[in-house]
Amino acid sequence: MVRRLAESPDSPHPPRRAAALRTARNLAGAKLSCLLVSKPEDVSYLTGFSGEDSFLLLGDGWGRLLTDGRYAEQAGRECAGLEVHVRTGGMADAVAAAIRGRNARSIGVQAEHLTLQWRQVLERKLAGKKLRPVTDAVSVLRQTKDAEEVRRIERAVRVAQKALRQMLALGRGGFVGRTEREVAAELDYRMRLAGASEPAFETIVAAGAHASLPHYRPAGARIRPDQGVLIDWGAKVDGYCSDLTRVVYTGTIPPKLRDVHEVVLRAQAAAIAAAGPGVLCRTVDRAARDVIERAGHGERFLHGLGHGVGREIHEGPVVSYRSKARLKAGMVITVEPGVYLPGIGGVRIEDDILITPDGRRRLSSLGRTGKATLLR
Ligand code: ZN
Ligand code: ZN
Repeated sequence: MVRRLAESPDSPHPPRRAAALRTARNLAGAKLSCLLVSKPEDVSYLTGFSGEDSFLLLGDGWGRLLTDGRYAEQAGRECAGLEVHVRTGGMADAVAAAIRGRNARSIGVQAEHLTLQWRQVLERKLAGKKLRPVTDAVSVLRQTKDAEEVRRIERAVRVAQKALRQMLALGRGGFVGRTEREVAAELDYRMRLAGASEPAFETIVAAGAHASLPHYRPAGARIRPDQGVLIDWGAKVDGYCSDLTRVVYTGTIPPKLRDVHEVVLRAQAAAIAAAGPGVLCRTVDRAARDVIERAGHGERFLHGLGHGVGREIHEGPVVSYRSKARLKAGMVITVEPGVYLPGIGGVRIEDDILITPDGRRRLSSLGRTGKATLLR
């Protein structure tokens, strides 16, 4: 137990604390005395702390992690150099105590995470202080990954790929006659054996016509020969996610999907080629959408092109035709065009792409062609 903690890849975590300081400096600009970070992914990003139920209070030049007895030892090890307060009373009391005596008039709270109920409790405990909802204060920093974060995402990609490759090696027998749910469960199991702490999200296995629903949940349907099976899966490793989609064919490729697969593949290649630092996210979406529209399936591309991926499976930037965001070196985004034909099936191909100073790099290496995922 102790050894595992000592080896925790999150400790110590100077880059995160540097980011914390940056945030603290930004407080002045936002006219906040301090920021209460309650979202677990943000707390762990800024401190390296991997436990739960703990808030971080960040002021100008100071910070305090508010945790409880269950995490006292862990916090001490993971957050060397950070003031850790082990509370015995309620969290709101701990926040009030941390602020007492400091010249803190306005306290930022995370609008995207803190509930209205929490806000009421804090307002009661912090009478006389002003609570100011702040949006995306930390998630903006999280969009650009450092080298260690990229390494973790790469590990998460490798684990997810390894699990699918093992499934593909089973051939048709690993799919045909089994239910979507069984295949999803086995993929999850193999990811865990390969080193995932958990699947990054609920694995999608959608056979045949079910694949025309972009967010289908695997059910009791049995997979048949000569079907397309859409698999959207990812692993969480060292707190970071991967997110991939492939369509696997159980025998021959259904004729109506053959062209669609080619179109989606070309759309993905066009989008990846368009991605790079300084490029608008919607330009990248447009590159894929142009290919799909020219093939006559524009109406059947039912979602944006992709999203940032990191500690959360969906994080900034949004990569869609509506997005005003611009790509920056260090961002990791998914590129996942899809074409969905009701009653027939669907094809989505998704890979994780790192934006580099001079372009982009695909972090995933699994084959994407229909041939590559054709089961024998
Ligand atoms: Zn996905
Ligand atoms: Zn995705």
